[in-house]
Amino acid sequence: MNLSRRGFLGAAGAGVLGAAIGTLGLSRKADAARRKPFKLAETKESTTICPYCGVGCGLIVSTREGELVNVEGDPDHPVNEGSLCSKGMSLFQVASNERRLQKVRYRAPGSDKWEEKSWEWALAEIAKRIKKTRDDSFLAKDGGKLVNRTQALACMGGAALDNEENYLWSKLARSLGVTYLEHQARI
Ligand code: SF4
Repeated sequence: MNLSRRGFLGAAGAGVLGAAIGTLGLSRKADAARRKPFKLAETKESTTICPYCGVGCGLIVSTREGELVNVEGDPDHPVNEGSLCSKGMSLFQVASNERRLQKVRYRAPGSDKWEEKSWEWALAEIAKRIKKTRDDSFLAKDGGKLVNRTQALACMGGAALDNEENYLWSKLARSLGVTYLEHQARI
């Protein structure tokens, strides 16, 4: 085969280039195989507020097909600007934790064991006991003055409640005659 100097250099250059492209292609495939899938791919993001304390840090909650995938601080929230304390950072475990109790458990007065109860039973029982405590302790007048109050109950709102829920909570408490009405954010 007759090969000129120019032809030889051209062929050698094409060979080196081909080898480089081949190597690049292989390393890209290897990189792709090594790369982990993006944790938040195809998730739906929702914003909410940390339920733990009155600071009220903003959160971004990511879900995929209804399953919680990630919880992190919301960088656009004016209170925390993306940061969270250790309690806020562990919020994922509120929803995803095999040790979390998911059913009502009740220990009767004097009993040494827990019983499993339904939510319907628990709600009716709580309502019944609130009503009884309120009726047993209700004071219409004190020193001749109309007071319509009970001092046997106390109500406390929490940071996870929004404005409307707090409004309803305070209405309920006042309609019962509760005077000890507080909010977690103030204590
Ligand atoms: S992240 Fe921490 S500081 Fe912020 S609201 Fe939750 S518990 Fe409070």
